[in-house]
Amino acid sequence: MKALVIGAGIGGMSTAAALKQQGIECEIFEAVKEIKPVGAALSIWSNGVKCMNHLGMGHIMDSLGGPMHNLAYHDGISGAVMTQFSLRPLVESVGERPCPVSRADLQSQMIDWWGRENIQFGKRLEKVEQDDHGVTAYFTDGSVATGDMMIAADGARSVVREHVIGFQTERRYAGYVNWNGLVEINEDIAPADQWTTFVGEGKRVSIMPIAGGRFYFFFDVPLPTGLEEDRTTLVSDLKGYFKDWAKPVQVLINAINPDTTNRIEIHDIDPFDTLVKDRIALLGDSAHSTTPDIGQGGCSALEDAVVLGQCFAKTKNIQSALKQYEEKRRFRVKDLVLKARKRCDVTHGKNMQETQAWYDELRQEKGDNIIAGLHNTIVGGPLA
Ligand code: FAD
Repeated sequence: MKALVIGAGIGGMSTAAALKQQGIECEIFEAVKEIKPVGAALSIWSNGVKCMNHLGMGHIMDSLGGPMHNLAYHDGISGAVMTQFSLRPLVESVGERPCPVSRADLQSQMIDWWGRENIQFGKRLEKVEQDDHGVTAYFTDGSVATGDMMIAADGARSVVREHVIGFQTERRYAGYVNWNGLVEINEDIAPADQWTTFVGEGKRVSIMPIAGGRFYFFFDVPLPTGLEEDRTTLVSDLKGYFKDWAKPVQVLINAINPDTTNRIEIHDIDPFDTLVKDRIALLGDSAHSTTPDIGQGGCSALEDAVVLGQCFAKTKNIQSALKQYEEKRRFRVKDLVLKARKRCDVTHGKNMQETQAWYDELRQEKGDNIIAGLHNTIVGGPLA
């Protein structure tokens, strides 16, 4: 049995690992010649780390995961601590730690684990056809590939999605711009073992440690879409948006390298119920494109792959395994997209009264409520 896997992102690579465990041959096709991730890092929460372990790639998490042992929120303007607590109770309750990792390193190590030479780079899928016997993939370079099924892990702008769900989707602007990158760890910015977030005015500045003595940072600012901002103005733009903010935020802005900092307008897509059509399945962002506000987009791609493998462990009938995959995943992924959207609105001041109420809650927070929320999200995964 052969699967055509479209995309060599987190979704595509984890799919290949999961299908290989079931003895299914995979051909992987990636549109670009060299993958350049849009974000500097990712928090792979415990549910995602469990999936990486299950897929045989746990060692990648061990080598890349930063020492994120505590969590804190600060008032962005005064710098005062709103809440600060250990993540140990979370790790104990779910049985695995979260791993903030460099995205480029994760991507690269997943590809190396599979074997770079076994991936066909520079192959952009243009269209797909299927019949009772198999699937045919047509690429923009004129080449054609055939297989028994296709797993389309071709990201938020998937070309396969319309074939599967029967209509075109619109990307929805979530109302804020995110700048992200890496800097050397500097404890004038934040403690080296903590996920630290400064909040105020519907904006957010977040810092988490990754391996190699580096902080992953991001800045979120609610803004209209389509503003003319670029690398040449990046530092001065951030200085403007965070003018009166606390000293650690100013130290961070002065430390960033605009040439390696990403600026992204954040989008998601309204969830849909169909993930599978006969021999073709959507997986990862092609199936559920979310805002990054609960850090679950990549984790849920890993979960998809694990569940896909579990379904093929039960039956090698393709249509039946893919239907089970759809059945097991559609509510979970819809829930995560909508949860992230809700979190996004509260964090980014869609209704400033609600955001202010959240800031007030953070000042009363001892850790239990935040840990309970993280716990619920994590245990909803397939390896709870
Ligand atoms: P992608 O990473 O988009 O990979 C798709 C691949 O398919 C790409 O390599 C692309 O080149 C290829 N491709 C596209 N079209 C074609 C085609 N026609 N033919 C062949 N190949 C094609 N998630 C987390 O879990 N934790 C986080 O902390 C987190 N933070 C984030 C922060 C930001 C700012 C953003 C934007 C996202 C964040 N995410 C996070 C989400 C995460 O990045 C995505 O959910 C994840 O990368 C999805 O992986 P994927 O493989 O499905 O898609």
